[in-house]
Amino acid sequence: MAATQMEQLVSLCKRRGFIFQNSDIYGGLQGLYDYGPLGVELKNNIKAAWWRAMVYERDDVEGLDAAILTNRKVLHYSGHEDTFSDPMVDCKKCKGRFRADHLTDGKCPNCGSTELTEPRPFNLMFKTTVGPVVDENNIAYLRPETAQAIFTQFKNVVDSTSRKLPFGIAQIGKSFRNEITPKNFIFRVREFEQAELEFFVKPGEDEKWHEEWKQNRINWWVEQGLPRDRFRVYDQKPDELAHYAKACSDIEYAFPHGVEELEGIANRRDYDLGNHTKGQEEFNLEAHCHENPESTTKLCVRDEENNKWIIPFVIEPSMGVDRAVLAILTEAYTEEDLGNGNSRIVLKLKKHLAPMKVAIVPLKKNSPEIMAKCHELKKNLMKLGIGRVALENTGNIGKAYRRHDEIGTPLCLTVDFETLEQSPESVTLRDRDTMEQVRVPTSELAQYLRDYFAR
Ligand code: ATP
Repeated sequence: MAATQMEQLVSLCKRRGFIFQNSDIYGGLQGLYDYGPLGVELKNNIKAAWWRAMVYERDDVEGLDAAILTNRKVLHYSGHEDTFSDPMVDCKKCKGRFRADHLTDGKCPNCGSTELTEPRPFNLMFKTTVGPVVDENNIAYLRPETAQAIFTQFKNVVDSTSRKLPFGIAQIGKSFRNEITPKNFIFRVREFEQAELEFFVKPGEDEKWHEEWKQNRINWWVEQGLPRDRFRVYDQKPDELAHYAKACSDIEYAFPHGVEELEGIANRRDYDLGNHTKGQEEFNLEAHCHENPESTTKLCVRDEENNKWIIPFVIEPSMGVDRAVLAILTEAYTEEDLGNGNSRIVLKLKKHLAPMKVAIVPLKKNSPEIMAKCHELKKNLMKLGIGRVALENTGNIGKAYRRHDEIGTPLCLTVDFETLEQSPESVTLRDRDTMEQVRVPTSELAQYLRDYFAR
């Protein structure tokens, strides 16, 4: 199979309604994209698969959905105000701005000039003010990661659920980073979604859990249709680590533009809970950089073995949902030669991720009997709880199959004259990948589809 090109994906995404440029009618806004009718389904299905694996199928994780606007103090004591920056250089010739660590040969990627300024830190957080008075005291940030609210709500979650270590808090939501050079479609954007788990463990057990989460997350990616040989795990070197991390393993995937990070699995030790804690000096913290005279709470748990209060360590698998969409689309996109000069594009998505589950295709669109049966079937199938069901009313069965191959619909259901004439009444179901057809009595259809889409 030839490697999927970014242009093929961008074109498919626009043509079929997965992803559009934001503010398109005004020429767009750089680094922002909107998800269309099929994109929102795919993204929701990815998030649901993550939530299911992280929360529903485990006994040790609670969920959270926190606000995006964040009190300045949170991001001060987390270290983001001082250190959440990328090194930026300006090209003196064309005035372009770039991330210094993304330049490979010391030349401006726009004009090739070597006349660049010295790198200087550029803070990636979006700043705003809250309330009607615009001044220094009312500054807040759009969160640059979902994680911080998990740390600041740690005590509330523990107190309301009586959780004991080890346990985790999961959250999916928007994050914002004023990237110097957003690029590669939805890979590097300024507003994106993250699915993050903060898994709290006893100090000393962190390395074992880090390893455990690496394996866990790789297995999850394989279940979403990414073969093991298409990604690699890169353990960051000490000088590459974020300010809070003791270790970090990047799960990297072969995106159309190159091999880059899809998910990071960091050992954030006791850095965040420690920094947000009142009276840190009582604890034996591994590393903290700020005194904290402003916190009102100790973010700690009782270690029953030693009968003392401790600040847990945390392992954080952090997935970018938009990067997940891009990787899953890249992997699923297939061009197939059908012989005799015919070819088709098929999106070989796992069926739990497919935006449209079943397309009902009438053999003839101008037959009132066939159309009545199609509408009746659609009404019933929509209530099954399997997801979206479409009725393709074009009258061209070949075109309907091509369209649904291209958007990854696992099953096309055809209603023909035999459906109406034969007893028992039956329809054909065409499999997207094999193109094989089976006949199923309509009386068994609901159970057939429930079983087919059950996981
Ligand atoms: P990168 O090195 O690519 O800038 P990062 O190491 O800064 O990423 P993290 O802070 O570890 O990223 O964030 C966790 C995850 O959030 C990343 O693995 C990625 O999937 C996603 N992510 C981070 N920044 C962006 C972005 N600008 N656009 C889309 N997704 C992002």
